Amino acid sequence: MRIGCPTEIKSHEYRVGLTPNAVREAVTHGHQVMVQAGAGLGSGFTDADYTAAGAEMVDSAEEIFARSEMVVKVKEPQAVERAQLRAGQVLFTYLHLAPDPDQTRDLLDSGVTAIAYETVTDGQGGLPLLAPMSEVAGRLAPQMGAWALQKANGGRGTLMGGVPGVGPAEVVVIGGGVVGTHAARVAAGMGADVTVLDRALPRLRYLDDVFGGRFKTRYSSGGAVAELLETADLVVGAVLIPGAEAPKLVRRADLATMKPGAVLVDVAIDQGGCFETSRPTTHDDPIYTVDGIVHYCVANMPGAVARTATIALGNATLPHVLALADKGWRQACEDDPNLLAGLNTHAGHLTYYAVGRAQGIDV
Ligand code: NAD
Repeated sequence: MRIGCPTEIKSHEYRVGLTPNAVREAVTHGHQVMVQAGAGLGSGFTDADYTAAGAEMVDSAEEIFARSEMVVKVKEPQAVERAQLRAGQVLFTYLHLAPDPDQTRDLLDSGVTAIAYETVTDGQGGLPLLAPMSEVAGRLAPQMGAWALQKANGGRGTLMGGVPGVGPAEVVVIGGGVVGTHAARVAAGMGADVTVLDRALPRLRYLDDVFGGRFKTRYSSGGAVAELLETADLVVGAVLIPGAEAPKLVRRADLATMKPGAVLVDVAIDQGGCFETSRPTTHDDPIYTVDGIVHYCVANMPGAVARTATIALGNATLPHVLALADKGWRQACEDDPNLLAGLNTHAGHLTYYAVGRAQGIDV
């Protein structure tokens, strides 16, 4: 199969759909891989790395779209990219179609077979192509929180791990899923005193079993959150209610109960945020202060560590890229219902129920 990987063109997107290692594997499987010149630079991969792996470097995105039987990307195709997609071609990338009727219409008009990373499943209720980005954002959250806690950034001037004779920072992680677990592990590793809240008791049991001693768990109620807010130096928002906007668990009035200079890191900002005072920020200008509390609300946190994020995403997507290329999309999806769950559009038909429901389109 001819596989193409264009440079990402969404603003501040530095990841790339295929790593040189993925190219090497695809070439070993007998496929032809085209990569746009410069596509890997934002993630620290040079054109020479790709050439050494067996890729053909191509100057323009237009040539990639025109010649590829399957296009592998990271972000949803932008309008100029959508105009180049066609029936019979496979697109494998993040799509997030539900809130995006323009993109949905363009993909349907193009006839492309679009398989969305975010709806591929793993058979255990997980979303394996979303998980790596939650792992990255989770591990990054305490790092960003620690930075925001520094005095020059408006923070309280508290060191996460303290020092001998001075206690550590108190860190509260609301939501003990993928983001929350990784945030708690890193915060505990930095020496902070960490409490994780979740509403799912099985999840709290799991965390206690696996990490018992490294951090505490609490059942997430309004009262527990209010109590912990009063002494917290850093609060990480990591809740998710699938398919819904994040619940607002900290109201503006609650900020007055917190210590001045405490920090809120709202990882759930991509679902609207779980703090009432959260609004999306960018890597260029990541923090702002409300009522003396520093907020960090970057909606695409993994972009800050594009190299790690690209490699992590590539590790998860590679088996599917190979299955799609080796067998063709139809056979690959027939063989693997978890991959089939990723199919969102085909030949002008919407094939994903939740997107149809969100947009009033028959599936
Ligand atoms: P997840 O499903 O693995 O975990 C969410 C957890 O929240 C679950 O354990 C659930 O029980 C818990 N929860 C739900 N309501 C709660 C409540 N009221 N109190 C406490 N816990 C509650 O999801 P995840 O992969 O960890 O993602 C968490 C959020 O982070 C999502 O909104 C996701 O989109 C977002 N995210 C953001 C970025 C970014 O760059 N900002 C990157 C990755 C993920």
